[in-house]
Amino acid sequence: MKIKINDIPKDGLTIEEKRSASELDLARDDLKFVTPIALAVYINRDKDEAYAHVSAAGRIEAVCSRCLSSYTMDFKRDFDFSYDLRGKAVLDLTDDIRSEIILEYPVKPLCKEGCKGLCQVCGKNLNEGSCGHKTDVQKWNRIEKSSN
Ligand SMILES: [Zn+2]
Ligand SMILES: [Zn+2]
Repeated sequence: MKIKINDIPKDGLTIEEKRSASELDLARDDLKFVTPIALAVYINRDKDEAYAHVSAAGRIEAVCSRCLSSYTMDFKRDFDFSYDLRGKAVLDLTDDIRSEIILEYPVKPLCKEGCKGLCQVCGKNLNEGSCGHKTDVQKWNRIEKSSN
């Protein structure tokens, strides 16, 4: 998203556009946008500085890190950026928007809080019911604590 600095009027500029996730290079192995990303940017400037407020929204499909099933979730975040305009004619917000969105991704996607994961013996999805094998749901908490 490129903005010519001279195009920013005194009381600011609002830009709304949709970008494809592939254009922004947003996919991760276990996580991808299944809709375009709707971006709403408000930018204003004060002498040599510009301030941008960005809202990004879309829908994500992710693979649960415990039970390995796919699920979708809404993504909506707001970001604020400031820029030093000295020596610049054009601002490009694309890289900043991209890295902020990726920072907001869940480290370990979960289809739901308390997902029971897969049976370690037979691989059954324990959210769908017990398979009769002895399992230890608390184990997940221990694994996640010790991996920190
Ligand atoms: Zn799950
Ligand atoms: Zn089992």
